[in-house]
Amino acid sequence: MTGSLAALLAGTAARRPGHRALIRGSAHLTYGRLWERARRYAAVLHASGVRPGDAVALVLADDEQFPLVYFGVQAAGAVAVPLNGTASVSEIAHVLTDADVRFLVCASSLRARAGAAAEGLGTRVSTVAELERAAAHTRPEDAFVARRGDDPAVVFYTSGTTGAPKGVVLTQRNILRNVTTMAVTPYAFRSDDVLLGGLPLAHGFGQICSMLTAFEAGITLVMMERFSGKEALALAAEHRCTVFMGVPTMYLKLLDAVADGGPVPRFDRVYSGGSPLPVPTFHDVRRVFQCPVYEGYGMTETSTSLTYNHPGVPCRPGTVGVPIDDGVTVGVARPNADSVELLPVGEVGEIVVRGETVMAGYLGRPDLTAEVIRDGWFHTGDLGTLDADGYLTVVGRKKELILRGGYNVYPREVEEVLAEHPAVAHVAVVGVPHPVLGEEVWAVVVPTRSQEATCDLAEEIVDWGRQRLSRHKCPRHVEFARTLPLGASGKVLKRELVSTLGPVAASRSATE
Ligand code: ATP
Ligand code: MG
Repeated sequence: MTGSLAALLAGTAARRPGHRALIRGSAHLTYGRLWERARRYAAVLHASGVRPGDAVALVLADDEQFPLVYFGVQAAGAVAVPLNGTASVSEIAHVLTDADVRFLVCASSLRARAGAAAEGLGTRVSTVAELERAAAHTRPEDAFVARRGDDPAVVFYTSGTTGAPKGVVLTQRNILRNVTTMAVTPYAFRSDDVLLGGLPLAHGFGQICSMLTAFEAGITLVMMERFSGKEALALAAEHRCTVFMGVPTMYLKLLDAVADGGPVPRFDRVYSGGSPLPVPTFHDVRRVFQCPVYEGYGMTETSTSLTYNHPGVPCRPGTVGVPIDDGVTVGVARPNADSVELLPVGEVGEIVVRGETVMAGYLGRPDLTAEVIRDGWFHTGDLGTLDADGYLTVVGRKKELILRGGYNVYPREVEEVLAEHPAVAHVAVVGVPHPVLGEEVWAVVVPTRSQEATCDLAEEIVDWGRQRLSRHKCPRHVEFARTLPLGASGKVLKRELVSTLGPVAASRSATE
């Protein structure tokens, strides 16, 4: 294994200097050129006073500027703090303070927002254009700054699905361990593979699983600034993409775009992660794309992937596969116990993890870190079960478990059943407050395009659930929506959904 993220790119640039690292629009950048320009950026950062170990924020779009600045920061020995280009002034300001950021690099189009966020914080702001102008007068750094495995490489902010995003410190070793493993076995990259991007690069899935594994393998990454099903199909056809990775909502958009007459992509294999892939969607993708679909599971705190259904093992739809390698141990523990007590096969408990990909900790929050890393195990906050062959099934997040009249209801189980209804395109099951039961089970449904949202359809879906689920799990109410609220990494934000349903639910409860 190479010793740092900068060394990873240096290695690939030495091996395949003329191979295309990335394509965006009509432009492309080879590995040799990417590494040369990144080292020029490192020289500019050094000249601007950035020292090894300093935090440098990236407020960029998902285009070629991202890897250039990112590897400039890595070559300078600094710590990258990537923010989504859609982040608001207050979100950027929070991160700048939280991560004690001294230097921020932004896209010119985001200058006003980044500048407003940095005001009064003593953070220097530079646009990529300014960096580029200064880089023209510098020589690329001859030797990049050496880093050790324990040195922080990136501070990621989690998706904020269950609460305010947390700053996760990942070391060079954490990330490299994941990247070198994933590129070889689960992703099984071949030297002529072309990976279609589209995941946000500030997020672990897009940055580690997509960009870094591609660069480790020395393959070509096709970039897309903002995911759209139609554009994805066009890019896949134009550049003959062989692999795609995305969150389940992206697959729904791809399927829609094909239904609209778009060209069917000729992928060899596709990977899903980030949130549960409903089994009916898995089958739709496999049928339409005519290629294997592999689902994996992980989180920012574990440098992304923990388990995968991958080409090396028999695929079990509905499960998230097996641990990515021997260095990752996944267990299921009795929830809320004082010490870690692993449960036998088949029992549902909290998913716990051990291994070299587990984060160093939450930035500046030793209290929160100690809450989740106990007895050497990282507690994921997710509930799941292992089968006799080591396949993991994620049944849901602890925080999203519905407690109805003393019974546990796992939203995922209900969602899977409702997703099979032919009129349901997308569904989220949530608990809404109920005066007697504590919580009641509601479903929010996006109907398929040809389907009208009527009271009859709502009743039909409730009935569908009643025939297939035990009584306490059946949604008592179906609410229709045109879309579900999604976070920047494409996940359904259930807490936002519940807050919009709150008043509706309260008025219904009052009349019941
Ligand atoms: P926050 O921690 O800020 O609330 P988040 O947990 O969504 O947000 P991420 O680190 O991006 O932030 O996501 C990891 C989580 O996503 C996992 O803990 C799990 O709940 C969910 N997840 C990821 N992959 C899958 C999958 N294949 N099936 C089910 N859930 C998944
Ligand atoms: Mg989380």
